[in-house]
Amino acid sequence: MNVVGLLPSELEDLAVELGASRYRGRQLATWIYRKGEVDLAAMSDLPKDFRARLAERAAVEVPEPERVTASQDGSRKLVFRLGDASRISSVLMPDDDRLTLCVSTQVGCGFECRFCLTGVMGFARNLSASEIVGQVLAANRLLEGGQRVTHIVFMGMGEPLANYAALVQALRILTDAKLGLGYSPRRITVSTVGLVPGIEKLGRENLKVNLAISLHAGSDEVRSQLMPVNRSWNVETLIAAVRKYPLAPRQRVFFEYVLLDAVNDSPEDARRLVRLLRGVRAKVNLIPFNDWEGAPFRRPALPRILAFQSILLDAGLTTTVRWSKGEDIGAACGQLREPVSA
Ligand code: SF4
Repeated sequence: MNVVGLLPSELEDLAVELGASRYRGRQLATWIYRKGEVDLAAMSDLPKDFRARLAERAAVEVPEPERVTASQDGSRKLVFRLGDASRISSVLMPDDDRLTLCVSTQVGCGFECRFCLTGVMGFARNLSASEIVGQVLAANRLLEGGQRVTHIVFMGMGEPLANYAALVQALRILTDAKLGLGYSPRRITVSTVGLVPGIEKLGRENLKVNLAISLHAGSDEVRSQLMPVNRSWNVETLIAAVRKYPLAPRQRVFFEYVLLDAVNDSPEDARRLVRLLRGVRAKVNLIPFNDWEGAPFRRPALPRILAFQSILLDAGLTTTVRWSKGEDIGAACGQLREPVSA
């Protein structure tokens, strides 16, 4: 058993099972999650016999990056080889005083969005809470000079809401202000292709994390072509669920919209998006498509991208164009793909 990925309260239970007090469990949580320490020998304020009993029962393990590739724009892709030899990646993206980590929740992905390279590799398995939290701990360990990941986005490999239990467990550890990693929920964003029951459930967890919707089209006709998931929950059902997602004052729902030449980038598409999001506290991120070999799409020309953005801005929608980071290292959105085994 790996204790990384257990809730602080579960670490307290474990301490009791090992014949110690709950306090020892809290100390253990502090070492792992707050200090990022995984070496039992270094946990100096824990009694030696407790550490020995713990070592017999469990391991304290954080995945080691097998490879770290730096991009010219400053982002870094971390590739992890997991216990079963499968590979996942996380991407560290610096931006002014922010340092955002994009984490994966599954090995591969089964949703087959047509513009996404990860979708091409198919679904292999869900990640455990330990493997999700482990990506953040590993990234923080890699950083030097007291630096720490400041924001976390669940936009890496896989669909977070399709791995619901592990996602929520990881979110609880990441946001636990006392004994977890202590991230403000406002600095965490969960991105989904639109699994409506998952969105509703997440809203009820009271986690207060940001929600991002991979929308990519405002009509069912185009969206179903791009994203087969739209046949299960169409645009109308999706937006109705989003309208009910609880938001704190000033919090918004993010909408991701990858711009594909002559597919979803016309002025009429922009106006449809405006109508769809009327009354939603929304922020739209336009992502000009990142080409990959064999892709059936192309990036629109710059004037078309800017014209699309103008229509949204004129309608009062906060809209940014996100020029993806890490394109040259295969780390941009929809490009995360690793060979499943060595
Ligand atoms: S965009 Fe996300 S959900 Fe769609 S195939 Fe890619 S990883 Fe899966």
